[in-house]
Amino acid sequence: MWTTNYDVLIVGAGIAGTALAHALSTLPRSKPLRICLLERSLAEPDRIVGELLQPGGVMALQKLGMEACLENIDAIPARGYCVVLDGQPVHIPYPDSYQGRSFHHGRFIQNLRAKAKQAEGVDVVEATVSELIECPVTSRVLGVRATRKKEGSSEPVEKETFFADLTVIADGCFSNFRTAVLGGAGVKPDVKGHFVGVVLEDAQLPMEQHGTVVLVKGHGPVLLYQIGEHDTRMLVDLKNPLPSDIKGTILDEIAPQLPSALHVPVEKALAKDRLRRMPNSFLPPAEQGAGHTKEGVFLLGDSWNMRHPLTGGGMTVAFNDVVMLKELFGGVNDFSDWRQVSRVLHRWHWRRKRFASTINILSVALYDLFGADDELLEVLRTGCFKYFELGGNCIRGPVCLLAGIEQSTMLLARHFFAVALYAIWVMFTHPRRVTIGEKAVDVKPRLDEYPFLVFKCAQVFWTACIVFLPLVWTEIRWW
Ligand SMILES: Cc1cc2nc3c(=O)[nH]c(=O)nc-3n(C[C@H](O)[C@H](O)[C@H](O)COP(=O)(O)OP(=O)(O)OC[C@H]3O[C@@H](n4cnc5c(N)ncnc54)[C@H](O)[C@@H]3O)c2cc1C
Repeated sequence: MWTTNYDVLIVGAGIAGTALAHALSTLPRSKPLRICLLERSLAEPDRIVGELLQPGGVMALQKLGMEACLENIDAIPARGYCVVLDGQPVHIPYPDSYQGRSFHHGRFIQNLRAKAKQAEGVDVVEATVSELIECPVTSRVLGVRATRKKEGSSEPVEKETFFADLTVIADGCFSNFRTAVLGGAGVKPDVKGHFVGVVLEDAQLPMEQHGTVVLVKGHGPVLLYQIGEHDTRMLVDLKNPLPSDIKGTILDEIAPQLPSALHVPVEKALAKDRLRRMPNSFLPPAEQGAGHTKEGVFLLGDSWNMRHPLTGGGMTVAFNDVVMLKELFGGVNDFSDWRQVSRVLHRWHWRRKRFASTINILSVALYDLFGADDELLEVLRTGCFKYFELGGNCIRGPVCLLAGIEQSTMLLARHFFAVALYAIWVMFTHPRRVTIGEKAVDVKPRLDEYPFLVFKCAQVFWTACIVFLPLVWTEIRWW
C-alpha cells in the first residue's frame, strides 16, 4: 500500500492542465478534491503557439467559468478570416456575431495559471516530472517523480515523489510519457512541416480583426493575426526538409507573394526578430483506459492528440475536452477505482469525436489543399478558393466547423466533397492562367481538351478521397 497525498496529479500547467485543475476543483463534492498541478516553469512562456482562440474555445472557457482569463491581456477580437490567393482576398466571417480572441500566448497562460492557483484544493508546484512511479506488482501508475527548483536559485534539487489516485499527463506536444502510458496503442506524431514565426510591428492586415491566410506558390500557407495593439504574428509554413537559409527563403520567395502593405513590416521583423520554429504535427487519439494502456494515468491535450495548427483548433479541442471530462468525472466518487475512471475514458473517447474529429480532420485536409504541392492538389486548392467565393452556405458551413461553432464530421465530409466536385466543375468551365511567350493570359478549356479533362477529373476526385478518407480512418479505428 502507498500513502496517497493527492486525489489527482496533473503534469503540465499549460492550456489543458490548468483548465482541468480548475474544472476538477469545482466539481460538487462533500470534500474538495486535493489536486496537484506540476509545472516545470511557472515563468511566463514565450512561444509561437496558441495565440488564436476560436469562438468554440471561447464558449468552452465560459462553460468552465474561466472566460475572465481573456481579460487584461491586450487580446484582440477575431471576427473571421480573410484568405488571399493570387492577390485576391475572400472574406470568411464568423456568423452571427460569434467572436474568437487572439493574444500573446504567455499572457493568457499566466491568467489560466493564476485562476487554477486560486481554485480550492489546487496546489501548483514548480517541478519537472521525470518519470512515472508504477506499482511493482500491478504496474498501475501511483504517481510521479519530479525535481523541484530551489527557491531563489535555478539549480535543481533532489527528486521528490508525488502520489495520487489518478495521474493526468498534459505536458504538451513534446511529451515524454506517450509510450509509457499508451504502450503498444501509441503512434508517433507525424510531423508535416514547421511553422516559422516572427512578430510584425504595426502591420496592416487586409481585414482588421481577421486572421489572414495567404496561399503561397511553392510553399505552405502563411498565417497572420494581430496578437496585441501593435503586434501581429506571422507564421510561415515550411515543408520538410527545411531550407538551409530560412530567412532568405522567406524574404526572396514568400514575402513578395504577401499583400504589399506587409512587405516593409516583414523585412523589418526578419532583420530584428529571432526566428522561432515549431513542428506542425498530427497525432490521432488512441483510446485510453483499456487494452495495453496503463492503469492510474491518462494523457490529455497535445500529449495525446494533435492536429495541424493551420486552423488554430488545438486550444478549442483542449478546452472542450475538459468541459466533457468535468461532466463525466462528476459521476466518479472514487478516483482510485480504475473501473469507474476507465468507463469515463471510454465514454469521453467516443463522445468527443463529434467536435475533436471534425477539427482534427479539417485541419489536415485544409492544409493539404492550401499547401498544395502537386497539380491535382492545386486544382482542389483553386476549387476550394472559388467555393468560398460563392459565399452563403459555402462559407458559413466550413467556418462554423473550423471555429468549433458546429460539430459534425458528416457536415465536414459534405463540404469537402462539394469542394472536390466544384473544383472539377471549375476545371471545365473557368478560364485558367497560362503563359504564352512572356505574357500570362486566361484561357477557357477548348472542346478538344475535354477527353484529357475527363481523365484528370477522375484523378482529382481520387486525390480528394486520398486526402480525406485516411483521416476519417484515423478517427474511427477502435483498436
Ligand atoms: C506553431 C503552432 C501554432 C499554434 N497555434 C494555435 C492557435 O493559434 N490556436 C490554437 O487553438 N492552438 C494552436 N496551436 C496548438 C496549441 O498550442 C496546443 O494545442 C495547446 O497548447 C495544447 O495544450 P497542452 O496543455 O496540451 O500543452 P501546452 O500548452 O504546451 O502545455 C504543456 C505544459 O507542460 C509543461 N511541461 C512539459 N513537460 C513537463 C514536465 N516534464 N514536467 C512538468 N511540466 C512539464 C510545459 O512547460 C507546459 O507548460 C498551435 C500549435 C503550434 C505547433
